[in-house]
Amino acid sequence: MSITSLMPVYPRCGVRPVRGEGAYLIGEQGERYLDFASGIAVNCLGHGHPKLVKAIADQAATLMHVSNLYGSPQGEKFAQRLVDATFADTVFFTNSGAEAVECAIKTARRYHFANGSPERNTLITFSMAFHGRTIGTISATNQDKLRDGFEPLLPGFRYAEFNDLDGALALIDENTAGFLVEPIQGEGGIRPATPEFLKGLRKACDEHGLLLVLDEVQAGYGRTGKFFAHELYGITPDIMAAAKGIGGGFPLGACLATEKAAKGMVIGTHGSTYGGNPLAMAAGEAVLDVILEDGFLDNVAKMGDRLRQALEQMIPNHDHLFDSVRGHGLMLGLKLKSDSRRFVAHARDNHGLLLVAAGENVVRILPPLTIDESHIAECVERLSEAARVYVAASDE
Ligand SMILES: *Cc1c(COP(=O)(O)O)cnc(C)c1O
Repeated sequence: MSITSLMPVYPRCGVRPVRGEGAYLIGEQGERYLDFASGIAVNCLGHGHPKLVKAIADQAATLMHVSNLYGSPQGEKFAQRLVDATFADTVFFTNSGAEAVECAIKTARRYHFANGSPERNTLITFSMAFHGRTIGTISATNQDKLRDGFEPLLPGFRYAEFNDLDGALALIDENTAGFLVEPIQGEGGIRPATPEFLKGLRKACDEHGLLLVLDEVQAGYGRTGKFFAHELYGITPDIMAAAKGIGGGFPLGACLATEKAAKGMVIGTHGSTYGGNPLAMAAGEAVLDVILEDGFLDNVAKMGDRLRQALEQMIPNHDHLFDSVRGHGLMLGLKLKSDSRRFVAHARDNHGLLLVAAGENVVRILPPLTIDESHIAECVERLSEAARVYVAASDE
């Protein structure tokens, strides 16, 4: 037998974390890494945040799981807080981002069905998008590397160029249900939507009776310095998928919707065994308590500005390697002039700095939202050193 016990679908690297402390991960041999990847924008409070740890431990001892056959005081309370803090009137809890997007897709289709237009079942999605790994969400994603060998995919998606408003509008026809779009693409390489693009999609939805479905799984939950990234654009969606940061590392996602958009989601139309169980709700509430504390999001924006400035100051010293910085808040992308995967491996293996590669030769910088100036200084120091030695190595 040569297959590994863990199905070999990930190109796992040599870092084997066994413990976490704030912004640091510690490996099997005690080696320390500065974690500016945060489990890909998940560990928003860093590792071992006392409030989150205690909430999970207390709830595990009290009541971990009950069926959604029963009433959910825990779910009602957390959902109400999300409703109060966002555009939404109602929330469905999931266990992952892909499931949140699935629920968003179903909610959009069911809206038009409930309105007597079942033929309006097609969502327009965008190049370089990432929406998850289920059959539904890879069908929504026009990327061969995610889809190869998994055909037949689901019908009901059409693809336009990201940030090309005219191209997107040109695809609208009698079968269009709406748009599914990340306000800032994560996997695609920290590519923010332009204001004209996102506002234009919103306007088209209003004019044509379509639904704007945002995938804020990566950009949402405080990452950009706003609770959700669409607040940067002054628009609201009809339906939105959230996950990653929402549980701070506990598997949790949510599909949020306005009352109007959720029109079709009546009893019996959707469900999840684990979705929204008391343990998940306790984790979610603990994270939300911290994120919505006075000044927390402002501090994310401030740390984001500092980090960005520090990165921009560093670029001229290594301008054969680094090109530019993009993104918002603590969702930043450092664009390289060469392969970002190789550089991420170098920074990790030789400089103890964890980052994430993304599309377009971008290095994603996604630290915990709880970092301070000292972590920023340490990151930039390690990055500069990594760049300096990297050059020396590639000049040999
Ligand atoms: C990570 C991600 C997903 C998928 O989330 P999972 O929890 O891995 O299913 C969906 N959309 C976006 C934008 C993401 O970044």
